[in-house]
Amino acid sequence: MATVTKAPKKQIQFADDMQEFSKFPTKTGRRSLSRSISQSSTDSYSSAASYTDSSDDEVSPREKQQTNSKGSSNFCVKNIKQAEFGRREIEIAEQDMSALISLRKRAQGEKPLAGAKIVGCTHITAQTAVLIETLCALGAQCRWSACNIYSTQNEVAAALAEAGVAVFAWKGESEDDFWWCIDRCVNMDGWQANMILDDGGDLTHWVYKKYPNVFKKIRGIVEESVTGVHRLYQLSKAGKLCVPAMNVNDSVTKQKFDNLYCCRESILDGLKRTTDVMFGGKQVVVCGYGEVGKGCCAALKALGAIVNITEIDPICALQACMDGFRVVKLNEVIRQVDVVITCTGNKNVVTREHLDRMKNSCIVCNMGHSNTEIDVTSLRTPELTWERVRSQVDHVIWPDGKRVVLLAEGRLLNLSCSTVPTFVLSITATTQALALIELYNAPEGRYKQDVYLLPKKMDEYVASLHLPSFDAHLTELTDDQAKYLGLNKNGPFKPNYYRY
Ligand code: NAD
Repeated sequence: MATVTKAPKKQIQFADDMQEFSKFPTKTGRRSLSRSISQSSTDSYSSAASYTDSSDDEVSPREKQQTNSKGSSNFCVKNIKQAEFGRREIEIAEQDMSALISLRKRAQGEKPLAGAKIVGCTHITAQTAVLIETLCALGAQCRWSACNIYSTQNEVAAALAEAGVAVFAWKGESEDDFWWCIDRCVNMDGWQANMILDDGGDLTHWVYKKYPNVFKKIRGIVEESVTGVHRLYQLSKAGKLCVPAMNVNDSVTKQKFDNLYCCRESILDGLKRTTDVMFGGKQVVVCGYGEVGKGCCAALKALGAIVNITEIDPICALQACMDGFRVVKLNEVIRQVDVVITCTGNKNVVTREHLDRMKNSCIVCNMGHSNTEIDVTSLRTPELTWERVRSQVDHVIWPDGKRVVLLAEGRLLNLSCSTVPTFVLSITATTQALALIELYNAPEGRYKQDVYLLPKKMDEYVASLHLPSFDAHLTELTDDQAKYLGLNKNGPFKPNYYRY
């Protein structure tokens, strides 16, 4: 049971009405917690490409003695000398994260995270650095490791270390390094975390496994990913969740923006960078017409591709029809298509049989979370030859000479091969910051040992912070209109079941 001390009332109050808090139903509680390392931690990820070449220095950061300019060695990064370059990367990211910066400015005086000791495990990129520095500006102390062994921007980690953040991460960690870094963040004499910010659930899993006593001080967990959220619901179902947790993944400002707009912006980038393909007139099949599929299809259609959809759900299939796409079975089109894209979150959507029937030069890639959608394992057989033609691009060659172009070995295309728009990450980062503030300042009893969705008001606040970037002007309800609709003039404007 967490010890929740009554926090002083802060100006930023989002959850003044208990009825707003909707516990998200356990929709997927089947994922095992016993994995040694999450899929997301090993999925290749280079969304914010590290521009510094680390290949010149093969010494493990764990063996190096490094100090920042203030004499602190409370960090472990690839090369602290890259800090200045990393600082420039962070400043560039800040340009497109004005909402987070504005939250930083608005709440800086209040210090709503004063006394918060946040242990974090996320991708360490320039955008996350803006989040971490915002949390510090709001009063928190942070210790941070990477949730993915490939995704750390070394220069950004160096800049954070130079600024005094205890960061333990570098690009290309081994699995042992990965857990060592997490352990260094949690296990520190004289410092005990009282908040967790996780992406993938590995940090939470480690604390449960190694340091269960730490939970006596933890006020809450904020989790960002599908995988981590699954793990939390699993714990909750088993009655083992001992602190409140916020499911950021399913908040509207995450799902409707990260999944839809991020993929709409990055699918073409990933395909272009890897293959230089022209989209006009190309036959494409997109498997899955959920948020990610909708984003991909919109982008492809805009460039003149002929888009086919496969779906299992009649509602999404009907949406695809109404949006002007043909809904087909994969078998019907597999011989003709030039590009196959999976976005289902499912497994074995593209099988060896499909791959056998594809035409020469067909491009195959995945935009779903894990590398299970395309049966890549079935391609590792003696009769097929693999040729690495570019980074993240393999030609798989059949005995008759047919080639299939496989991107990122079936892992997330956009996270592996392109950049992800900073603005979308700003929305997610702002949501994470507000979730931390909310859980940290919640009066005792507001949150139980369960998984919660973000209060609707908080979602709306995140959106409103991003509107000035577009010079968007909201219409205000008149008193009469508010009464007519039965709404508070300041929101929330929609019930929790509203689908957007
Ligand atoms: P979603 O549930 O909205 O959509 C998935 C769709 O796939 C559903 O409509 C479902 O009916 C359909 N589907 C399932 N099995 C199928 C099959 N065998 N054939 C055809 N259709 C099938 O989910 P989403 O938000 O679109 O996310 C999809 C995946 O993408 C998830 O794994 C998610 O974690 C991941 N994701 C990726 C990114 C990215 O940047 N690439 C961003 C967010 C989410």
